[in-house]
Amino acid sequence: MASYPVFLKRNQQVADRTLAFYFDKPEGFAFRAGQCIRLVLIDPPETDGEGNGRILSLASAPAEAELMVATRIRGSAFKRVLSGLAPGAELTLKGPYGDFVLPADPRTPVVFITGGIGITPVRSMLLQALAEQEERRLVLFYANRQPQDAPFLEELQQACAGDARCTLVATMTRAEPAATGWQGEQGHVDEAMLARYLDEVQAPLYFVDGPPALVAAMKAMLGRLGVAEERVRTEEFAGY
Ligand SMILES: Cc1cc2nc3c(=O)[nH]c(=O)nc-3n(C[C@H](O)[C@H](O)[C@H](O)COP(=O)(O)OP(=O)(O)OC[C@H]3O[C@@H](n4cnc5c(N)ncnc54)[C@H](O)[C@@H]3O)c2cc1C
Repeated sequence: MASYPVFLKRNQQVADRTLAFYFDKPEGFAFRAGQCIRLVLIDPPETDGEGNGRILSLASAPAEAELMVATRIRGSAFKRVLSGLAPGAELTLKGPYGDFVLPADPRTPVVFITGGIGITPVRSMLLQALAEQEERRLVLFYANRQPQDAPFLEELQQACAGDARCTLVATMTRAEPAATGWQGEQGHVDEAMLARYLDEVQAPLYFVDGPPALVAAMKAMLGRLGVAEERVRTEEFAGY
């Protein structure tokens, strides 16, 4: 698999304990919205059991000028070193990998179901579909504990606002409206929530990704609703 040098341009906080990292696109690198890469530290001062690299989805859309990944910052050596890198630091990008990508037929309606950091490949696919002026119908169910945990929420709300192709259903599982001012949906994505927003539950192609527990729960729910297995594409973020 191809390997490219990339240089950190900047990082930016995109939610609580969550950073986005931006890079210029290396020459010759191309990817499809939804694919992931392996991002590898070069000679880091510390390492851990998982090694010096991690698989991360590209959260940027191919139509955007920069490459961007985003991750929850936890205690691993990889993430400690990554979050401390200064602009200009060199890393190695390997990939792209994966076939968690939009179907070729732009008329196929797509429903994304994700939570938390699982939004990364979805951001890429959704913004790419909108940028390509596809007629595709897009519905995103996006679950988080609280609004401050939800990477890219405002940006995606703005991208979908006023665009008839796109519906964003954000839901909070632990947001007290009185404390947070949250006005939207509450609780986990479930059969009743899908029914409120989808005319035909069995027609779309579903993209479900994020922590393995969320993926398993959503797959089981879609099975109960009679959605055919071949209409459900999944990607598990092993490690969460
Ligand atoms: C296809 C694919 C795409 C992915 N895309 C992304 C992405 O876009 N963004 C992203 O952030 N991740 C993504 N991941 C997951 C990513 O590769 C890492 O596994 C994840 O970020 C965890 O890395 P880590 O360094 O925090 O933990 P690791 O050092 O890799 O440790 C993983 C193990 O330790 C446990 N662990 C570590 N820290 C904690 C903690 N604080 N609390 C509880 N348990 C802990 C984990 O449960 C797990 O068992 C993706 C994975 C796959 C397979």
